[in-house]
Amino acid sequence: MLGGDKTAENQASQSPEEILRQDLLYLHVNHSLQFFDKPSGEYMGRNGRRVNVDKTKFSKEEQNEFTRGWSLNKFNQYVSDRIPMHRNLPDMRHRSCKKSFGEDLPQTSVIICFVNEAMSVLLRTIHSVLDRSPSHLVREIILVDDFSDLPHLKQPLEDYVARLGKVRVIRTEKREGLIRARLLGYSHAKAETLTFLDSHVEVTDGWLEPLLDRVGQNWTNVVTPLITSINNADFHFGRWSHNNIYVGGFAWNLLFIWDLFENPFDANNQIQPLRSPTMAGGLFTIHKDFFTRIGTYDPSLDFWGGENLELSFKIWMCGGSLEVLPCSIVGHIFRQSSPITWEGKSFRVLSKNLIRVAEVWMDDYKDIFYRISGRKPVDYGDVSERKALRDRLKCHSFEWYLRNVYPFRYIPASTPIGVIQNKAVPKCILGLTKGKAIAASSCDSNRFQLFWLSQDSSIQSDIGCVDYSGQKQPVMLTCHHKRGNQEWQLRKDGSLYHVVSAKCMEMSVGGGSVEMLPCRDIERQKWILPKRGS
Ligand code: UDP
Ligand code: MN
Repeated sequence: MLGGDKTAENQASQSPEEILRQDLLYLHVNHSLQFFDKPSGEYMGRNGRRVNVDKTKFSKEEQNEFTRGWSLNKFNQYVSDRIPMHRNLPDMRHRSCKKSFGEDLPQTSVIICFVNEAMSVLLRTIHSVLDRSPSHLVREIILVDDFSDLPHLKQPLEDYVARLGKVRVIRTEKREGLIRARLLGYSHAKAETLTFLDSHVEVTDGWLEPLLDRVGQNWTNVVTPLITSINNADFHFGRWSHNNIYVGGFAWNLLFIWDLFENPFDANNQIQPLRSPTMAGGLFTIHKDFFTRIGTYDPSLDFWGGENLELSFKIWMCGGSLEVLPCSIVGHIFRQSSPITWEGKSFRVLSKNLIRVAEVWMDDYKDIFYRISGRKPVDYGDVSERKALRDRLKCHSFEWYLRNVYPFRYIPASTPIGVIQNKAVPKCILGLTKGKAIAASSCDSNRFQLFWLSQDSSIQSDIGCVDYSGQKQPVMLTCHHKRGNQEWQLRKDGSLYHVVSAKCMEMSVGGGSVEMLPCRDIERQKWILPKRGS
């Protein structure tokens, strides 16, 4: 465990250099100097840089520590434990973000839920908030322990944070899942606004003021920082560019996706808030009264998932707005997979959550969700209270939301959706992930095989659009809805014609792959597409 008790003492009266020096001293004593970058003498991870370790030089103990860290967390705890808790980070903000804010920004309660988080990662999260936020704006940091069993999160955590002054730990009495854990944090929060964070983030300079400023301007504004990625293997703090900013969206299976605004920036204003149809869920600031007014979260959502869409739909449909603020930058560790289990039933729990969201908020559009996700109705409990809430608040319809907030989300409502099957070989095309070639597999209508032809002539699925730019095979890419490499025609003879290249989609002889070739009159270039009503 990363102790670092000394760094916590008298923190308020110490300069950042002094705090960092003590961090390094701790690392020196506990981990020996071998993790310093010898030529430069710099500490590991400085300025958000990546940390590479030479595993060939590992002792047996180090090897064990390394393996255990990965399997417990699905990120490289071994590396995290060797990076100072107060490491500095690059300032990636646009220069116009560095303005001064008024005196009257509202205060916030930072709420961080965790379950079995690695100590060094959790403490780096907390210290980054304390180090990089104006002290008078952070009323408190509430850590909500969702029934962790790792011992470092019990008394040692409480002893550590007791010295930090405004940080306290509250605990659930059983495993509640992140939704009810956040609600517990909310019930204890004293400030005017709430800032939720995951337990594995690092905030950067100036992250908080824009969030509070925007919520202060209008209590119905809900805002998220721009989320960059902290690499789960080497802890590199990801950079981003203004040309590549995504906002939150959703796929019709109700999983969160990052989506691209066609024209995210006004060229003259690179720091404007970006309207975001949804939020990823973990990192946002909301006025406490607005959160209360719109009925917080549905408390019957268990474990993980769906709550981000529930809140996003509700914010927009019931009188608020949701934005990404490019001046506020926070890094988040996207883990390899989730290390957290929910009594081994995560799929069913997620089905229940998503169905509750669809039933309450999506009106008739819920049919598209059922059709595309293939989720079968499970016992999703009683939603009458949530529907009553929606009526009481006189919220807009889901159709209004789609039209006004998410016009670039294609609606496959009246479009037939289904498999694209070859006439010669009984196989269907399959698009597993973006960036990968279209494959062929036996037809079973799994969601990677479900496509529709959109109004702008793309072959679209929940993953993206079929794109061809001259290689051997077509690939799945993000839909741009600008025709070009994504424009296809289903011709009368059953061929799938790619307009720009003037080639046709062809199944290989054995049905092993899908290729683009000059058009010719053979059955392997003929396809059966989803029909209306199918
Ligand atoms: N979390 C929790 N209880 C749970 C699941 C998650 O308190 O049952 C916490 C978790 O520790 C994290 C936050 O909720 O701080 C968001 O979860 P996670 O990071 O697993 O979601 P992801 O970022 O992977 O979508
Ligand atoms: Mn997370």
